[in-house]
Amino acid sequence: MTFCLTRHQPFGYNLTATIEAALYEPRSSSGPGHRPFKAEITGSNPVRGTYNFLEKPGISMISVEEALERILAEITPLIVTVVPLPESLGYVLAEDVISQEDIPPFANSAMDGFALLSQDSQPQDGKPPHLRVTGGVAAGYVADHAVVPGTAMRIMTGAPVPPGADTVIQVELTHSDGPTSEWVEIMQAVDPGNNIRPAGEDIHRGQKVLLRGTEIGPWEIGVLATLGWANVPVIRRPRVAILGTGDEVVDVHEPLRPGKIRNSNSYLLEAAVRQAGAEPQRLGVALDTVESLREKFTEAIQCDFIITSGGVSVGEFDLVKNIMTEQGEIHFWRINMRPGKPVAFGHIGTVPLLGLPGNPVSAAVTFELFGRPVIRKMLGHTHLLHPQADVVVEDGVSERVMRRHYVRAHVEWRDGRFIAHTTGNQGSNIMTSLLNANALLIVPEGGTVIQPGDTAKAIMLDWPEG
Ligand code: AMP
Ligand code: MG
Repeated sequence: MTFCLTRHQPFGYNLTATIEAALYEPRSSSGPGHRPFKAEITGSNPVRGTYNFLEKPGISMISVEEALERILAEITPLIVTVVPLPESLGYVLAEDVISQEDIPPFANSAMDGFALLSQDSQPQDGKPPHLRVTGGVAAGYVADHAVVPGTAMRIMTGAPVPPGADTVIQVELTHSDGPTSEWVEIMQAVDPGNNIRPAGEDIHRGQKVLLRGTEIGPWEIGVLATLGWANVPVIRRPRVAILGTGDEVVDVHEPLRPGKIRNSNSYLLEAAVRQAGAEPQRLGVALDTVESLREKFTEAIQCDFIITSGGVSVGEFDLVKNIMTEQGEIHFWRINMRPGKPVAFGHIGTVPLLGLPGNPVSAAVTFELFGRPVIRKMLGHTHLLHPQADVVVEDGVSERVMRRHYVRAHVEWRDGRFIAHTTGNQGSNIMTSLLNANALLIVPEGGTVIQPGDTAKAIMLDWPEG
């Protein structure tokens, strides 16, 4: 018997079954403490929610492009918040930055030297002009008198040009009696404006300096500081719930008992979420029971985005989709790709949920392709995808795969070309195929083989989205 679950048909389950008991039960259809399989579910009181998910019409395998488009169509940037300037690194600016001032705010000297009238720099009777030094002006101060014909003032880099002067000559082109000299000889004629940085040369008042949507890096922070933005309006970072699933999954510090594996996905995803600019909330691992999943999802819906791993395939214990149907909706759950065919996308309440496959490589790759762009869109970025490059696949990809195949590879620039080497066994459980990979080769659908030396498109994971 197969059950079709909708949000109007809540699960029935055995209230006496405990989470503790489930933890130590072998997943087997026979022997003591066995977990019931679908065939054993009878009548109206099924045990522990082990349903087979019934495909709805229209919920079938879709292309990577369609999946991405449909996911992103459901995502909008989060609301604006204001953060102190030093904390704004990595956020996306939520407003255009328009300067209220000229930068620099006053004409100032680009050199240590003397401020004078340019006409006084012309040689007289073939001799360097001899001018009286009336004082000096240092950076941070203003002159208390003007430069008049026949005089000069000592000036430091960044100091405001004193009134009357229209040029600055650097100290190396003068001759004087030292730092306190009361006279100076001008060894070279200089034009008006020489070594003077005019007010507003960099930015003028009213100028739009940074656009909304700009990612704030150290250089933008420098510009914001120049303009006096002590606090910066940015798009809030999403909080992302990360939920592992599976009775077999134990935490990293726990001993490995028979049949168990460690939870690598949640830690990998936590790091990847943080790297994408969001705040991860690792919620541990739900057992393969509706009760356990429901409990975890109660917590998860406090976040802006939920990412699960495992439990979205067609197995008897793959219940994430059932919970999505019960508490929200599934938009799709299968993508024509490898690794990572079972990827579910939908909502729990109003919170988007991306259900990634359990195999660690599939989880990692599908996060890069779908999870990271979601986070970037929530953060207000407009560039959501890594650039692609044509690369020469030196070792080729001989395995014929009918689905779109994303092959982990290391790409380097050599002899004027990008050269790719695949990272070995491409099984979706082979975590070491992720190590040293900085690119995903895109092998088109339909069993394409890439011969050694052929060119392929690669998603350059370590190139910023642009
Ligand atoms: P599932 O999609 O739940 O059937 O899981 C597919 C495979 O991924 C199984 O071999 C699981 O044991 C493995 N797996 C599921 N969750 C995790 C996890 N959090 N960390 C490591 N492996 C996992
Ligand atoms: Mg599982």
